[in-house]
Amino acid sequence: MDAERPSPRGRALAAAVGASLAAVLRSRGRRWWCRCGLAAPWVSDAWGPHNSQHLADPYTITHVPHGLLLYALLRPLRGRLSADSRFVLAVGLESAWEAFENTETVIGHYRKTTAAQGYVGDSVANSLGDLAACALGYEVASRLPARASAAVFLALEGAALAACRDGFVLNVLTAVLPMEGVKRWQSAGRG
Ligand SMILES: [Zn+2]
Repeated sequence: MDAERPSPRGRALAAAVGASLAAVLRSRGRRWWCRCGLAAPWVSDAWGPHNSQHLADPYTITHVPHGLLLYALLRPLRGRLSADSRFVLAVGLESAWEAFENTETVIGHYRKTTAAQGYVGDSVANSLGDLAACALGYEVASRLPARASAAVFLALEGAALAACRDGFVLNVLTAVLPMEGVKRWQSAGRG
């Protein structure tokens, strides 16, 4: 039977992709960690100065559905690409997205169009946390029937909406097409 899950070798290759992402972000001047210097790996305040600066926060949750989605999108290629190749491709695509998300243009765009006021770009640790969340989503999808993955996707979108008035679908929508109503709703949840 064709394996659906990545092997330890595939995971090692994906980790190498993550290391490359860290190198790219560092070369662009992103800091490793929050400027506060506190070692806390998780911060729960989705709008404070520590957001997107520690390893994980409520926004990290919004990256798990990326993995679920990437698994579903790449699964039709299973006749051509091995489980490891698809996993590494998924992590590579998410890394490309993280690198794109942290270009000055996009950081400025987010600052203007979403609730992320004063946003200065993710720390490298936070980007790696996002990447790990995506890889986790992929691993979960590789173990579950498609319907169960879809249910997890919806549950996580709901959780992200509740926790930080954000989520994958909303994120894509507001990035492409800024909506005043959504912006007001997101701002209303702050403080
Ligand atoms: Zn901090």
